[in-house]
Amino acid sequence: MTQSFDIVVIGGGPGGYVAALRAAQLGAKAAVIERDRVGGTCLVRGCIPTKALLQSAELYTLAKAGAQFGVVSPQVGLDWSAALDRKAGVVDKLVKGVEGLLKAGGVSLIRGTARLAGSGTVEVSGESIQAKDIVIATGSAVARIPLKGAELTIDSDQILELKEIPGRLAVIGGGVVGMEFAAMFAALGTKVTVIEMLPQVLPMVDADLVAVYTKHLASLGGAVHTNAKVEEVVKRGGGLQVRFSSGGEGGSIEAEQVLLAVGRVPYTQGLDAEAAGVKLERGRVVVDEHLHTTAEGIWAIGDVIGGIMLAHVASYEGVCAVENITGHSDRIPDYHAAPNCIYTDPEIAHVGLGEKEAKEKGLEVKVGRFPFAASARALTLGQSEGFVKVVADASSGRLLGAHIIGPRATDLIAEATLAVQNGLTLEQIDLTIHAHPTLPESLMEAALAAQGRAIHITNRRVATATPVPVAAVPAAAPAASGEVNGQTAKAQNREQQMTAPVKSKAPPLPAAITPKALELTKQNRDFLLRLHRQMQLIRRFEERAQEQYTKAKIGGYCHLNIGEEATVVGGIVPLKPNDYIFTSYREHGHAIARGIDPKAVMAELFGKETGTSHGRGGSMHMFDADLRFMGGYGIVGGHLPLAVGGGWAIKYKKQKDVVFCMFGDGATNIGAFHESLNMSKIFKLPVVWFCVNNRYGMGTPVEDASAVADIYKKACAYDMESIQVDGMNLREVMLKTTEIVEKTRSDSEPRFIEALCYRFKGHSVVDPDKYRSAEDKEKFRKADPIVAFEHELEKSGLADEEYFKKVRQEIDAEVQEIIRFADESPDPKPEDLYKYVYAGEWENRPELRGDPL
Ligand code: FAD
Repeated sequence: MTQSFDIVVIGGGPGGYVAALRAAQLGAKAAVIERDRVGGTCLVRGCIPTKALLQSAELYTLAKAGAQFGVVSPQVGLDWSAALDRKAGVVDKLVKGVEGLLKAGGVSLIRGTARLAGSGTVEVSGESIQAKDIVIATGSAVARIPLKGAELTIDSDQILELKEIPGRLAVIGGGVVGMEFAAMFAALGTKVTVIEMLPQVLPMVDADLVAVYTKHLASLGGAVHTNAKVEEVVKRGGGLQVRFSSGGEGGSIEAEQVLLAVGRVPYTQGLDAEAAGVKLERGRVVVDEHLHTTAEGIWAIGDVIGGIMLAHVASYEGVCAVENITGHSDRIPDYHAAPNCIYTDPEIAHVGLGEKEAKEKGLEVKVGRFPFAASARALTLGQSEGFVKVVADASSGRLLGAHIIGPRATDLIAEATLAVQNGLTLEQIDLTIHAHPTLPESLMEAALAAQGRAIHITNRRVATATPVPVAAVPAAAPAASGEVNGQTAKAQNREQQMTAPVKSKAPPLPAAITPKALELTKQNRDFLLRLHRQMQLIRRFEERAQEQYTKAKIGGYCHLNIGEEATVVGGIVPLKPNDYIFTSYREHGHAIARGIDPKAVMAELFGKETGTSHGRGGSMHMFDADLRFMGGYGIVGGHLPLAVGGGWAIKYKKQKDVVFCMFGDGATNIGAFHESLNMSKIFKLPVVWFCVNNRYGMGTPVEDASAVADIYKKACAYDMESIQVDGMNLREVMLKTTEIVEKTRSDSEPRFIEALCYRFKGHSVVDPDKYRSAEDKEKFRKADPIVAFEHELEKSGLADEEYFKKVRQEIDAEVQEIIRFADESPDPKPEDLYKYVYAGEWENRPELRGDPL
């Protein structure tokens, strides 16, 4: 009988087995197919065997230095075969452990090589297995290069099985794998030479850390040749010779063994991925931000998708993927705090941004260092080489990255990772009591050093960029009258403010939004990428806002417009700075598209004093007079009459501005909708009505909620020009909106746009979202406006997956900071709660006060 599962994972490495276990926890019937031993590269020929052997090397080094500690042994020797046996024992134990976990967790383990056989079928040794969803976790394999004499070299799998320790080892490739083996064999007495093509080994590590490592390697007789290209490997005199060129000169190295460690490549051999509709790109499986491949119901994680090829990242992605599959959550992997550990001697570990990387990004940073030579614990261990370095944002003090070389760096990075992931500041780290004497004290001291207040080293002068108090008002917060954080904001004459020309805070626009300005050409690249970035920012902002809502950081009702980014950005960006925007609630994205500081938007949702409306409006009444963002109204469609009022004001003042009124399809079934359209037409008001038809009418599919599902037809009843646009297509929305808005500006006639889009989530976080069929959801999801725009950009060569990934990472960090800002912003003072509620009038009118309750 054909076996069938909810989720079948192909590959039992740290990505695959973790995904399967999590799937089972979430109630899915899950299976893992593994052609070799469970645990994958990590357990069988990667992380674990290397670290087991490195432990032998470390113990050997310590034992040799025993006399310094008063431990005297007449003869310290090395039994390599015993070390190999121990390594094998550790691996066996862990493999059995994983098998046991799978069994106990109710996950079926199927032995054999899997092939994708189309439409939810996986074939293993001629047998078909049915799966509702499939996760590809087939990992990676050793990379090969077309090198003359490559067959004489060994790879990282083979070096683990060497029967003897080589007297001389040449390592081609200065990446993590090469450097770990170099460190291990150098400690065991091998003369190691590393040849690296780039100017630095471990190119992803800050140069000051690498210098400590190479110095240590040199002290063990090792050598490193950088900027050196290996030409060939030949047999010579019973051994091998590696010939290389460097700076126009030739060189050679003699060795018994040559390790070729030039990286790893995603592994999909025999999977028939492309035949099953899974797109591959330079060997890696292409996935979207939710880890879904181009084939329906097929997902991919771990080394096989490229990116950060590490075991813990594979496991993390495994959890994200199955949580997305089961609908448990909607997760987009966030890599900004993915730690990288390198088990050299001394160990190296880093997380977040490096010093150079942060500066290249234009960030103003402050850096703090603390040497292990000043750490009491490091001295007691007899391992005082290296240092801890922290990189923090100069103004907020938020930790951006930490970089450690020294004893147990790979353990120490955990605290820094927690801090980077959660946007903690240097001060929050140094105000945490660290046990003494411990190595983690060094992170605390580095954090203190960055602020010029280290205790256990002399402080260098630090850059004097004055940190902004976390509670400060963000740049784009409204300059409303009244007190903000004790400072009196500039008093404003409201009428003058509303009629004066406005300077936009949104990204600059091309001179005019024309088909030419939106063509997918190099000249337009900057603008197009900015639009893409803005959509991504809105998406991620909303997703993280949902999380905050479930943590009860956001009160009231948290509305969502995930999936509507093209209509929001495409509708709002074409407006001129002097135009007025009236939107309904769930307007976070609208506010961001208008150029309101996202920090102020999030702070508003958190109910904080630094919010757009000083925390008084939540998602319903976001207001920014400077940007003519007129806020919403709690009742569905209640703001449409307000837009009519705005139109009247413009007409009365004889201005050339336009009122832009955005609302959902739910608002089109109420009387105020009809009255507002009617009024605007009769009185020729310059209002553009913009219906975001996301196909949910307040918890009901729009076809059931409305007699006329094509909403633009309703506007025809008022003899108004009305059009329908594809709201999932950013460029179409922008062009058509521009056209309609400019017509209205010139003749003061109201017009109507219906943008047909789709909201990926229910009405809010608490909405069970049961009223659209699964087929509908699947169909609409495929038209994801961000993915569609990315395909357009990719096809026209304006950006690639690497770029999109980088943007996502940057946005993750930005949103993290936005949340931190909101979280740390002050609450309104109870006595000020009625300020700003009535356009700042309350405090001037004591007769209105009384007892609010
Ligand atoms: P893998 O672990 O490669 O697992 C994939 C599994 O899929 C394999 O078991 C394979 O047999 C199976 N498979 C493939 N195709 C099929 C098929 N068609 N049918 C059935 N089964 C299939 N990472 C760290 O984080 N820390 C370290 O210290 C570290 N050290 C390393 C040291 C070395 C020498 C190497 C080589 C790697 C190291 N890594 C380390 C990287 C780490 O091992 C990988 O990132 C990790 O194993 C990736 O996990 P994965 O689940 O994606 O793939």
